Amino acid sequence: MLIAGIFFFLFGMVIGSFLNVCITRIPEDVSIILPGSRCPKCGGAIKFYDNVPVFAWLWLRGKCRACDAPISAMYPLVELATGLLFVAAFLEYGITQAAVKWLFFTCFIIVLTITDLRVRLLPDLVTWPGFAAGLVLSAFVPPSDGFARSLSWRLLHQRLQPHAAGLVDGILGAAFGSFLLWGLAAGYKFVRKREGMGLGDVKMMAMVGAFVGLRGTFWTILLGSLLGSVIGLSVVAGLYLSGWKRGLAERGSRRGLGTANALRWTIASQYQLPLGTFLGIGALAIVYLGPVIGAD
Ligand SMILES: [Zn+2]
Repeated sequence: MLIAGIFFFLFGMVIGSFLNVCITRIPEDVSIILPGSRCPKCGGAIKFYDNVPVFAWLWLRGKCRACDAPISAMYPLVELATGLLFVAAFLEYGITQAAVKWLFFTCFIIVLTITDLRVRLLPDLVTWPGFAAGLVLSAFVPPSDGFARSLSWRLLHQRLQPHAAGLVDGILGAAFGSFLLWGLAAGYKFVRKREGMGLGDVKMMAMVGAFVGLRGTFWTILLGSLLGSVIGLSVVAGLYLSGWKRGLAERGSRRGLGTANALRWTIASQYQLPLGTFLGIGALAIVYLGPVIGAD
C-alpha cells in the first residue's frame, strides 16, 4: 500500500513535468515533443539531471544553471500537485480502471486550469482531445449517476448495455455542461454588456461533462461559479482598495469622465477572471471529494 502510494506520487511528478511542457508550449503552438526542455532566457538545453521534478528546481534554487534567469515556481508546484492528485486517485479508486479514467481527467484539468490562469486561454488542442477521451473512458467507467440507464428504462422500457449507458451518460453531461455555460455566458453578456466568458469555457465544460456525467457537471458548475464569484469579488475589491491604476483614474477624472474613485472601481471590475481555473478546481473537488460532500 505504502509502496504503491509512493509509486503513484513519483509517477505523478514525472507526468506533472510533462504537463508543464504542455502548459507552456500549447498556447504558443510549439510542439510538445521536440525539442527538449530549454531555458526560455538563454536557450540552453536543460540537462536531464536538472529536469528532475521538484528536486531540480530546489537544488538550482529556482535559477537556470547557465544564465541564472529565474525559473517560475509554477514548474515545481504543478509537479507536486500532480503527484499529490495521483496519490489521491490511488487512495480513492485503488488500482482500477476507474483510477485510470480519473488520472487522465486530472491531467487534462491541470493543463487547462494552469493555462487559463497564466494566459487566459483554454486551448482547443486540450479541450477537444479531452472531450473525446472523456466519452471513450465513460463507456468503460460510467459516470456514477447512471442517469442514462434509468432514463432508457423509464422511456423505452429497455435496459441499456453498460458501455452504451456510460457513453450516453457522458454525452448527456457534455451537452448539459456546454449548454449551461453557454447560457451563463449569454446572460453575463446581457447584464454586463461585455464578453465575460469565451467559447473555451463552453468547450471545457463539454469535456468535463463527458467525464463526470450530468450530476457531476451540475456540481462542478455550481462550485466553480461560486468560487469564481467569491474570489472574483475579493480580487476586484482588493485591487480597488490597494489603489490599483490610481494615476489612470485621476487623469480620467481630470478629463471629466467621472470621479476618480468611480473610475477606479470601473477599472478594477474589468479584471478578467480565469473562469476555467475555477471550473477546474470545482471539477477536481467533485472527483476527489465528491463522495465526502455527497455530490457523487
Ligand atoms: Zn538560461
